Amino acid sequence: QKFVYDFTEGNKDLKDLLGGKGANLAEMTNLGLPVPPGFTITIEACKVYLDSGDEPAELRDEVSAHLDALEKRMGKNLGQADDPLLVSVRSGAKFSMPGMMDTVLNIGLSDASVVGLAAQAGDERFAWDSYRRLIQMFGKTVLGVDGDLFEEALEAAKEAKGVTVDVDLDAADLKKLVKQFKKIVTRDAGRDFPQDPREQMDLAINAVFDSWNTDRAKLYRRQERIPGDLGTAVNICSMVFGNLGPDSGTGVAFTRDPASGHQGVYGDYLQNAQGEDVVAGIRNTVPLAELESIDKASYDQLMKIMETLETHYKDLCDIEFTIERGQLWMLQTRVGKRTAGAAFRIATQLVDQGLIDEAEALQRVNGAQLAQLMFPRFDHGAASVLLGRGIAASPGAAVGKAVFDSYTAVKWSRSGEKVILIRRETNPDDLDGMIAAEGILTSRGGKTSHAAVVARGMGKTCVCGAEEIEVDTKRRRLTVGDTVVEEGDLVSVDGSTGKVYLGEVPVVPSPVVEYFEGRMHAGADDADELVAAVHRIMAYADRVRRLRVRANADNAEDASRARRFGAQGIGLCRTEHMFLGERREMVEKLILADTDDEREAALDALLPLQKADFIELFESMDGLPVTVRLLDPPLHEFLPDITELSVRVALAESRKDANENDLRLLQAVHKLHEQNPMLGLRGVRLGLVIPGLFAMQVRAIAEAAAHRKNAKGDPRAEIMIPLVGTVQELEIVREEADQVIAEVEAATGTELRLTIGTMIELPRAALTAGQIAEAAQFFSFGTNDLTQTVWGFSRDDVEASFFTAYLEKGIFGVSPFETIDKDGVGALVRSAVEAGRATRPDLKLGICGEHGGDPESVHFFHEVGLDYVSCSPFRIPVARLEAGRAAA
Ligand code: ADP
Ligand code: MG
Ligand code: MG
Repeated sequence: QKFVYDFTEGNKDLKDLLGGKGANLAEMTNLGLPVPPGFTITIEACKVYLDSGDEPAELRDEVSAHLDALEKRMGKNLGQADDPLLVSVRSGAKFSMPGMMDTVLNIGLSDASVVGLAAQAGDERFAWDSYRRLIQMFGKTVLGVDGDLFEEALEAAKEAKGVTVDVDLDAADLKKLVKQFKKIVTRDAGRDFPQDPREQMDLAINAVFDSWNTDRAKLYRRQERIPGDLGTAVNICSMVFGNLGPDSGTGVAFTRDPASGHQGVYGDYLQNAQGEDVVAGIRNTVPLAELESIDKASYDQLMKIMETLETHYKDLCDIEFTIERGQLWMLQTRVGKRTAGAAFRIATQLVDQGLIDEAEALQRVNGAQLAQLMFPRFDHGAASVLLGRGIAASPGAAVGKAVFDSYTAVKWSRSGEKVILIRRETNPDDLDGMIAAEGILTSRGGKTSHAAVVARGMGKTCVCGAEEIEVDTKRRRLTVGDTVVEEGDLVSVDGSTGKVYLGEVPVVPSPVVEYFEGRMHAGADDADELVAAVHRIMAYADRVRRLRVRANADNAEDASRARRFGAQGIGLCRTEHMFLGERREMVEKLILADTDDEREAALDALLPLQKADFIELFESMDGLPVTVRLLDPPLHEFLPDITELSVRVALAESRKDANENDLRLLQAVHKLHEQNPMLGLRGVRLGLVIPGLFAMQVRAIAEAAAHRKNAKGDPRAEIMIPLVGTVQELEIVREEADQVIAEVEAATGTELRLTIGTMIELPRAALTAGQIAEAAQFFSFGTNDLTQTVWGFSRDDVEASFFTAYLEKGIFGVSPFETIDKDGVGALVRSAVEAGRATRPDLKLGICGEHGGDPESVHFFHEVGLDYVSCSPFRIPVARLEAGRAAA
């Protein structure tokens, strides 16, 4: 096994082995772009190290061989005293984790080689600045020294000299600082800063391996759903220097705007600085466009390279570059993160440019992004007090209480408060605060600052670099002119415009929702450009998808919205909602009935109401299938609470005026009380023990269908029996239902073509699906109950109690109620599909749990060959898109 690859040996498709950074450095090298030579230690080596606590035996020799080759090529040795080769040791996992793991620059500098570097560069200040950076970064990330100690010493040095930025410290100051830094290391780490360059390198490599498992890296991976056992590659890259004076510098850039997708010059540049300075917001950067006047030749070359990259990757790329005395070097590229809106726009722009086809365009967006575009926006017409304006870094409308540190953000959000995290700038330690916050506001940093990059990745609203805003973290407040915002005051942050408002600004529906509602069409302004892109992508998805998408809807209003959103029918109409409100009393009568007469009277009263509901529903879904589920929940849900009722009856009895009805009710409630109602008298079991209940519901459906037929409508009702565990249950219910339907057909002189099917939501039903299909014309997988019964836990009880612990321990990557558990619940679905179709080849198959609107689950249902998914009306566009992506 080979553990080390030269940059010339890899390519962009080797991310699993070389990590994203390494694979792309190799790709750029092979494209002939100016990349400083180097090599990559594979993720496999990291895995061995993390599993066994030790690097693979062959690694050291392989690294030596590659280092030798690099030294020959560069004509100098690592840390060579008179002319040192310096390298960076850079982390780089398969998925980018901005700022989460460690990188150490300037490896190879020592008390001896710093002198050689100064002589070679003809710049003493530069050499000592590089050395102090090495000790600082190495001390912090490799030796575990508290980083603040270095920062404080640096601040003190600047203060003593009466300057504010580090470039104003001269060689003598930096020399002194190096001495101090070395003392800090010795004191805090209990060892001296290593002078042997190879030891520096080896320690740094292990530190990068270890950085995979820091708390903040783990938290980030959980948030981004990146698997915890991947590990990281390590890149050894010869150093180039942006801190060699005004004709040097470093920057970051995007090949197009990651917020809007527009083509243009987007990025930040910092003169006379090393890489980390840009992202950390140490000094204020200038917009990349200004590089044209600073160094025209490098600027032109950079623009050409960016074009090459975009055409080559056929996507938006972000890059890191450094200019060393007028020579441009590429240090990183990758397909860049972007906002949800930009993802849709870029996908269609690239189709128009002929770079990608429609199938590929579908892979460039996803349902989570579409869902994000459907969130409400601020109402620009509403009265509001503008606090300030910054860079629109990550869109969305966030309102919350101002907090000025991550600790408070987490604490307050745990107690249910919505908060806006306000910082001068964020750093990786702010991650949990950023996760907790509704939105993020910073007063410094550009589009590529930590806050902007991380917020975009999380899909969280962010405005950064709002410079008029003075953030005072110590006093927990911000000021703009005379206005003071204290911790706890409400602020509104508009990540789409960069505006920040005092107080709570009202929100309006997003243009994308207006479009789905049919209230907005493609046009010219900014919102409409997005709408046009969404429109086109949805058309691609609808063209290729095989899964149909239905809605879970119980009333005509939801059904109509669902239809506007593209629903191709109703997959689940819950009839229990038709038993609530003023009808509850009738249900009580039904439950209390002692005699057939009493029961029939109660059912007769309910029938016309149910029928009227169905008529409306069939009308709004005319021509499309409507699956009506017969009554499912335990009866006690329709009865008064047992404790309340007991108290009421006891009080009445003590007053000697207990009322007959209450007493009967209490008896019934006692009789129906269950320890485990979820596993009790519900679903088909109700239909079997309460005579006439299901017959009444079937009659209401049949009569409603007949009514619609007579009105020249096209009703397509499907009757669904819940919680079936054995085919016998279904057979009994079916026989009765068939009889009722025949009666209604005879009485109305219509042919109804109603179908009867069942939910598959118990393990036994799934296991005997072949038998059940004998009596069922369709299956609808009730994956909520199926998940509960397969796992043996109830969603209402466990999500709050132990799921967090399970997620932390990695037992779940995500809650099985959110994304279908493919190996367990999914395996049952798969085998039930096969068994069902074996019995009845034209069996119609769908799913109606929450999973119907979950992107990953939709792909699974496509793959197992269901006919449709059914989800809540608002998730329908997401399901359509994901069904298209699954098929493309
Ligand atoms: P991250 O993954 O956090 O971006 P990087 O490995 O990209 O970390 O490095 C951090 C910074 O150091 C970046 O700005 C990068 O451009 C810069 N850098 C890394 N290697 C070199 C090098 N060999 N020469 C000059 N700058 C470098
Ligand atoms: Mg980088
Ligand atoms: Mg159910």
